[in-house]
Amino acid sequence: MSIRRIAITGDPVLHNRAKEVTEITDEIRTLVQDMYETMEKAPGVGLAATQVGVGLRIFVYDWDDGETHYRGEAINPVLEISPVSQEWPDEDTESEGCLSIPGERYPLKRADKAKLSAMDLNGKHFTIESTGWLARIFQHEYDHLDGILYADRLLKPYAKEVKRTIKYEGWGTDGNSWMPGEDFLEP
Ligand code: ZN
Repeated sequence: MSIRRIAITGDPVLHNRAKEVTEITDEIRTLVQDMYETMEKAPGVGLAATQVGVGLRIFVYDWDDGETHYRGEAINPVLEISPVSQEWPDEDTESEGCLSIPGERYPLKRADKAKLSAMDLNGKHFTIESTGWLARIFQHEYDHLDGILYADRLLKPYAKEVKRTIKYEGWGTDGNSWMPGEDFLEP
């Protein structure tokens, strides 16, 4: 097992649709184990394969809502969501971040409910009905597999801000990545 580098916005792998997993091979098993390790080290509550440079439809998640600890891998996921509110997002309670735009957070409305159907590493199908932050995590990670970053969904003023930041940091072009445990050590 090893920690993998995390791609930063601009790397084409983050902006293209990932492909279905056709067979669970040893390579896939290693990838998923590395994704867990990378997510923990980052740290993050979710990580998509595209973020470690692999264009396959897999994400991992790790979230404790105080009652239940949700942790697992979703392979070839399907996501059904409730309608997204058109209200302005709340900066305190609805701000989202992404390991591929490290250090930034912006508010974004998401669906309150999301039903995830996917396969685990054993090839077993499962369904999770989620609300709140878990639903947000699923939507964020699922988007990654379609080549969509949360920055692509931001309302105008926030979209402008994140664009400015990306430019300032020298991101937005191919070849930028960071290593959990080595870079971005400041809280
Ligand atoms: Zn992300």
